[in-house]
Amino acid sequence: MFSKQSCFDTTLKTVYIALGSNLGDRVANLLQARERMQSSNLRLTRASSVYETEPRGLLDQPWFLNQVIEAETTLFPRQLLARLLKIEQEMGRQRLLPNGPRVIDLDILLFGNMVMHLPGLEVPHPRMAERRFVLEPLAELAPAIRHPRTGRSVREMLTEVTDQPVRRLTS
Ligand code: AMP
Repeated sequence: MFSKQSCFDTTLKTVYIALGSNLGDRVANLLQARERMQSSNLRLTRASSVYETEPRGLLDQPWFLNQVIEAETTLFPRQLLARLLKIEQEMGRQRLLPNGPRVIDLDILLFGNMVMHLPGLEVPHPRMAERRFVLEPLAELAPAIRHPRTGRSVREMLTEVTDQPVRRLTS
């Protein structure tokens, strides 16, 4: 049940990326991030609905819009993370408070079946199983996909996180 892919595998991988925004024009921010990600080596294939979600941790901030996209990529995980961090930076993300408000947040949830723990990069995303704002949109795209370490499906993980208010906005 412990399926691992090599970090040096150059074949096309299916990846799932979480987007979040709670500052400025949140819909436009999600759109801009999707447009900036789309490229020859990161091809966006599907996008979930957009959800409005209550902030976690720091409650005194605007509600988030969240979405998950599926993409195919030939990038290595480190290259994909660098691309996402660059997009966050170009869009003006400032890291003032942990769990604080942000123009855009981009997280790698799943990278094929890869399991990796490197300084600054953990895949699958270490907190995905406890975040309804991630599991709800991910379940729209890939309910049966399994967490490569725990073997639990997205649908199963979602049944265990019911506490966070999440409202589907668009389909
Ligand atoms: P955050 O402030 O929540 O956006 O965290 C971003 C930091 O988390 C980045 O600097 C990454 O080095 C680190 N990180 C670790 N694993 C991941 C992941 N799977 N996706 C995105 N960022 C990650």
